Amino acid sequence: MKPSLVWFRDDLRVQDHPALLAAVADGAAVGLFVLDEASPGVRPLGAASRWWLHHGLEDLGRSLAELGIPLLLRRGPAATVLPEVLDALGAGAVYWNRRYGGPEREVDAAVERRATADGIHAETFAASLLHEPWTVRTGQGGPYRVFTPFWKAASARPVRSAWGLPDAGRGAVLSLPECPDGEGLEAWGLLPPRPDWAGGLGEAWEPGVAAGEQLLEDFASGPLHHYDEDRDRPDLDGTSRLSPYLRWGHLSPFQVRDRLLAAGGGAGASVFATQVGWREFCWHQLHEHPHLATTNLRREFDAFPWSWPQDGAEEAALTEAWRRGRTGIELVDAGQRELWATGWMHNRVRMVSASFLVKNLGIHWRVGEEWFWDTLVDADAALNAANWQWVAGCGADAAPFFRIFNPNTQAKKFDPERRYISRWVPEAGTPAYPEPVVDLGASRRRALEDLASLRAEQRPPAVS
Ligand SMILES: Cc1cc2nc3c(=O)[nH]c(=O)nc-3n(C[C@H](O)[C@H](O)[C@H](O)COP(=O)(O)OP(=O)(O)OC[C@H]3O[C@@H](n4cnc5c(N)ncnc54)[C@H](O)[C@@H]3O)c2cc1C
Repeated sequence: MKPSLVWFRDDLRVQDHPALLAAVADGAAVGLFVLDEASPGVRPLGAASRWWLHHGLEDLGRSLAELGIPLLLRRGPAATVLPEVLDALGAGAVYWNRRYGGPEREVDAAVERRATADGIHAETFAASLLHEPWTVRTGQGGPYRVFTPFWKAASARPVRSAWGLPDAGRGAVLSLPECPDGEGLEAWGLLPPRPDWAGGLGEAWEPGVAAGEQLLEDFASGPLHHYDEDRDRPDLDGTSRLSPYLRWGHLSPFQVRDRLLAAGGGAGASVFATQVGWREFCWHQLHEHPHLATTNLRREFDAFPWSWPQDGAEEAALTEAWRRGRTGIELVDAGQRELWATGWMHNRVRMVSASFLVKNLGIHWRVGEEWFWDTLVDADAALNAANWQWVAGCGADAAPFFRIFNPNTQAKKFDPERRYISRWVPEAGTPAYPEPVVDLGASRRRALEDLASLRAEQRPPAVS
C-alpha cells in the first residue's frame, strides 16, 4: 500500500484536521513539516514565533506518534522538498489544509501541479477559517471592505462542527525506521542561542494542543460570560489568550465555535464570536491584498509624512524607546514590556501602543508591525498587518485618523487601580521613571495637521 503524506503548516494539531483524516482513511499516513525560509515572498518567522514553532512541533510529533504516524521534518523551499519526500516515500497521495497568503498559495499551487504531473493524488481542505475568503462576497461579487456587513453576511452562512481525531493505529502502516530520514528539530536552531531570552515566554505559555484546549475550557466556563464587560481591561484575566493557539492551529476556529455554542450564548459569547469574526475579516483582507504588511490599503496614505528610524538619531531613539518600553508614557511602556517579557500584549494596549507609535511619534506603522512580527508568539501575517493598518487609519474599515487615543485617559479608564501599570512599570511615578519622550497634546495636533494637509492634497475616497 502506498502511504499518503499530510503536509502540516499552520495547523499543528491532530484533531479537526481534514487533511490528516483523509490520509488516515487511505490507510497509511506520514506527516511532514517543512521549514520554508527560501520560497520567494514567504516571510521568515520572527524570533518569538520560532520559539513557539519548536515546541509546537515537539507537541505535534508526540500526538502523531500516539496515533502511530511519523512526522518528518525538512527544511528548504517547499516546492522542491515536497516532490523529493513524495518520491522517497513512494507516496500515492498528498493532503494539506489550505492557507491564504499570496506567496504561500503560489507555493501550494506549484506543489499541487507537480504532484499531479507525477501521478500523485493531491487534495486540499478548509480548516483554519470558518469561511474561506471567496465564500463571503458582496452583492456585486467583491470582497467586503467594512466589517459589520461582512460579519453579518458570514454569520448567515452554515458552518460545520469540528471533527474529531483519526482512529489510533489506522495510519500506522509505516513504522518510523522505514521512513526516509527527517532532520532533527534541534538542528534547526529555532530556540534562542545563549543567553536564552525566551525564559519569560516559557513561564507565560505552554505551546501545544492540550494547553490550548484547557485555556478554551477555562475561558468558556468562566470569563466568557463577562467578556463583553472585561475584554478591554488589561488588569483582569478577561480575554481568552487563545491567539497563539489559533495562530499555530493547535485549535481550529471550528472547535472554538463549538465550545462557544455549548456555553449557551449571552452577550459575552456574542461579542467574543465577533472578535473571532475580526480574525476572519483580517484573513480575507490578506487574501485580497497579498502585500497587506507592506502597502497602505488606502493608497492616498502613501503621501503621509511618517518617519522611519533610519531618518535620523531622534527618530531612531524614539523608536527604540517605544520598543523597549521607555517612552515615559505608562500604559505604552507597560504594554511594550509585557510584550518583550511574555510575547503577548493585551488587545486594548496593542491599540493604544500602536496609536502612540504611529500618531504621537509619527513613525511609520510598518516599523511597529515588524517589531510585533518579531516579538509576538501569536504573530499572524493577516491579523498583525490588518490591525496595524486599522490603527494607522490606512486600512480597511480603519479607525478614523483623527481618533487618536490618549494613553493616559485610556489607562484611567481601563486600568483604574493601576494594577497593570504597576506590574510592568514598577518605577512609574518615581524619579527613576523617564519623562515623556513627546508632549501628547502637541504631537496629537501635529498628526492632525499632517492629515489635514494629506486631505487637502487628495481627499480620501469613502470606503464602501
Ligand atoms: C496593532 C495590533 C496588532 C495585532 N497583531 C496580532 C497578531 O499578530 N496576531 C493575533 O493573533 N492578533 C493580533 N492582534 C489582535 C488582538 O490584539 C489579539 O488577537 C488579541 O489580543 C489576542 O488575545 P486573546 O486571544 O485573549 O483575544 P480575545 O479577546 O480572547 O479574542 C479571541 C480571538 O479573536 C481574535 N481577535 C481578537 N481581537 C482581534 C482583532 N483586533 N483582530 C483580529 N482578530 C482578533 C483572535 O484570534 C483572538 O485570539 C493585533 C491587534 C493590534 C491592535
